Formats: sequence, structure tokens, C-alpha cells
Amino acid sequence: MTTALFTHDSSLKHQTPAGHPEQIARIEHIAAALNAPQFQTLIRHDAPDCTDADILLCHPQSHLDAITAAEPSSGTVALDGDTHMSPGSLKAARHAVGGCVAAVDAVLTGGANNAFVACRPPGHHAEHSTPMGFCLFGNAAIAAKHALDRHGLSRVAVVDFDVHHGNGTQALLWDEPRTLFITSHQNPLWPGTGLPGETGATNNVQNWPLPPHSDGRLMRATYQAEIFPALNRFKPELLIISAGFDAHADDPLAQLNWSTEDFEWLTRELCAIAAKHCQGRVVSTLEGGYDLKALAASTAAHVRVLMETAA
Ligand SMILES: [Zn+2]
Repeated sequence: MTTALFTHDSSLKHQTPAGHPEQIARIEHIAAALNAPQFQTLIRHDAPDCTDADILLCHPQSHLDAITAAEPSSGTVALDGDTHMSPGSLKAARHAVGGCVAAVDAVLTGGANNAFVACRPPGHHAEHSTPMGFCLFGNAAIAAKHALDRHGLSRVAVVDFDVHHGNGTQALLWDEPRTLFITSHQNPLWPGTGLPGETGATNNVQNWPLPPHSDGRLMRATYQAEIFPALNRFKPELLIISAGFDAHADDPLAQLNWSTEDFEWLTRELCAIAAKHCQGRVVSTLEGGYDLKALAASTAAHVRVLMETAA
């Protein structure tokens, strides 16, 4: 069986202002890394456009309308201090959602064992009606709702290891008892949320803040002591990963000191849990990661493990 990779050219048209960390070059570096010979057996798909109904699984129509209306005809426009749109941004965001939805379809209908969605903009900071933190739509949360509402699953776990708290995914899945959302992130750090007391409407949310300058040893200990047991108790039928690689020691936006090998280890452990409970069904979607070299290396390690466990 196989690992599917979803990408789309529209990711290369979503422009942010000069010097912005969430830049087109991120996708170019990932694409170059995944063109190495060892990735030849990836089943490559164009991420399709999503439907409006996909977005409405998590957002009100007013949010879709506002994002659609906000796209400028030239240049870039700031939705807030961090989040920008250019001509083509709406299309990119729609294909990022569509890639996640299609990846769920591929993994749940037997087209692939697992899948990685390498699109941008990322999604885990977008709340119901608020674009935020480079994100316009909640890609991972939409994927989870799609699996639940349209494929009839009962339990979907979403693990977010981006260095920033996945406040958007948390908000979108807060009162969704069929999901378990677990996030590790640096704290203190923007956006400031993600404290252990934030547990969801039905204890369906877990937050594991990690202190600045901590490294992969604390990450591994935390996942082994707390997060893996919680996932094993939950017994997911599908595991969705919000794969941000900005906890890497070289990342300019945060102060955790994870290595590429830490991302590799974490991916392997998460895949093992998926193998135990749900035939290895994993859908992983790109979130952050802003040192281009570390991002490319960490993403390549992540996808390599997905491919090894799918084999
Ligand atoms: Zn991040």
C-alpha cells in the first residue's frame, strides 16, 4: 500500500508581504526535498478545490463570504497583523481544504494507507469567524468533520505538534465529542492560549504546553507519559496530524529545540498508534515551519516515515 501526497500550484500563488515567514519558498523547498529519488513511490495528487459545504462543516457562511470578499485584485491586504491575502489566496486556501478532504477520502476508501497534504496557507489558527496566524480556514478540523459526518466515523483524533497552540482547531472542535484534539506547543508563546485547563466541552481537548528552550527529551517524555496513552484510550478510527515543523531548533519564530530526528521519532510513534487502532490510517497536513532548510528536512523525514509505515 501507499502514501499519497496532495499538492497544488495555487500554494505558489498565495503571496505574503516581503520578509513574511509564511512564504511561497516554504512549498518550493518542500517540493524540492520530496523530489528526491526515495520519494518516487509517493502517489501524487493535485489537491482539488473544496466545496463551499466543506468549509461550512466548520465555519459560518459569513466567514466564507468575508474571506471571499477580502481578496484584493492586486498587491496584498492585511486581515490582521500576521494574516494576509493576495490575488490567488482564496484559491490556495480552498485547495488546502480540498487537499485535506481528498486525503481523508483516499485513506478511508483504500486509495492510500496514509497521506500528507503539502499546501498553504496553513489552517490551525483559523477560528469560526476569524482568520488568524497566517490561516484562513481550519483545514485539519474540516478534515475531521468530513470523516465524521460524511464517512460515518465515530472517533477521530487530531494531534497538533506545531510549536504554536492550535487555537483554531481547538475552537472548531471544542464541542465535538467525536474528536479528541491533543496539542503540544511552546508556552509562553503567541497566541497565548493552550493551557492545561482548556479541556473542551467534554474533556475532548488536551493541551500540553512546553517551556521555551526545552528540547526533544521533554517532548518525548510528555508524549510517552501523557499523549500516547490518551490516544490509546481513545482508540481513533482515523488519526489526523497538524504537522508544523516550527518546534525545530533552527526555527526563527519560537524557542523549542527539537531536531529533525525528533520529528521522525514522533511520526513513527504516531503511525504505530494508528497501526494499532485504525489500520494505520493517518492524514497529515502541513502547518508551520519557517526555517526553510529545517522545514524541508523535517518534512522529508516525516513523509519518509509515513511511507515506511505504509509499506
Ligand atoms: Zn506554528
